[in-house]
Amino acid sequence: MFLWLLACMQEEPEEFLAWVEGEQGYAIQARPIQDLEDSLHMKGSLGQITYGGHVPLTGDRYTGGQTITVYYDLHDGVAVPVDVDGLLLYSFYANLGDAKRWVEARDQSLDEVFPLPLAWNPGVSPLIEFSAADNAAYAVGNNFFVLLPDGRHRDVPLLANRGGIAHELGHAVFHLLTAGGPFAPMLVEDPTSNAGRWQSSLHEAFADVQAALLTDDPAFISASLDMPARDLSLEHVMSEAILPDNGSQFLYDPYPAGTVFASLLWELRVQTDDADGTYRLLLNTARAWRPETVDGASWMEALLGQADPDQREILCEVAIQRLGDFWESSGSCP
Ligand SMILES: [Zn+2]
Repeated sequence: MFLWLLACMQEEPEEFLAWVEGEQGYAIQARPIQDLEDSLHMKGSLGQITYGGHVPLTGDRYTGGQTITVYYDLHDGVAVPVDVDGLLLYSFYANLGDAKRWVEARDQSLDEVFPLPLAWNPGVSPLIEFSAADNAAYAVGNNFFVLLPDGRHRDVPLLANRGGIAHELGHAVFHLLTAGGPFAPMLVEDPTSNAGRWQSSLHEAFADVQAALLTDDPAFISASLDMPARDLSLEHVMSEAILPDNGSQFLYDPYPAGTVFASLLWELRVQTDDADGTYRLLLNTARAWRPETVDGASWMEALLGQADPDQREILCEVAIQRLGDFWESSGSCP
């Protein structure tokens, strides 16, 4: 009885040990996690992390996750998890909360998205598209996160990479704005069609721009993955081979074409030195984009339609260089 009382009276730790990105890169250090209300059970205003359960074959909701208990030792008010899972989950929860606040501070409500289920290590159907490199993923149209442990050693685990989590939240924001709600069907329901491929590339483009602007780092993923091809500061150009309608029957990789489009916005951010103005344009474009055809051209026209004259001039110049013959402006560019 006495022990039980003690447990009930114990207050939440002030700070938690987590991966934190500072000037010198990532380090494990103490930080508050504002959104965590019941840290023992990883529950708070973002949602609850549950273990296991099932992500069904035909989409739908995540079911069957079990309540977890993350044990910690308290050192001077800092919760030190007793295992590496705790460190990962604290880091993820902190990153997701930071990303949510960053978006909301830029006048985009996420009330419809949060709280949502956070599925730690569920059974995952192979029909849900996860690349081998993904171990945090947002379930578009079903509004939950899947968190998978790293399959290999990384300097900074993906769940702890704040740009990686900002990218995943970017999928939620893009879907909210283009489809109209977290549970709305995607604009294109067949991911294997050309329009479906364009949709997945533009999803990755939006998510990468959000993450790069939030971290102010066009190569935010490099702390976890050695993927120089994803660096948005490079001059990525469109080519026949990476075009979504390239005629290939094989599984489509959405990143190369998506990275071309993301790099346009990073270049805008660099040339205007205005990260918030660039993000506002990104949001307004996604809000306005109701294309007859889901493809890069309709997205580009929506971007130019929302841009102010200075932004438009820069975008036109960069788009002509990087999209070349693969894009014909319908008169928005001089
Ligand atoms: Zn993605």
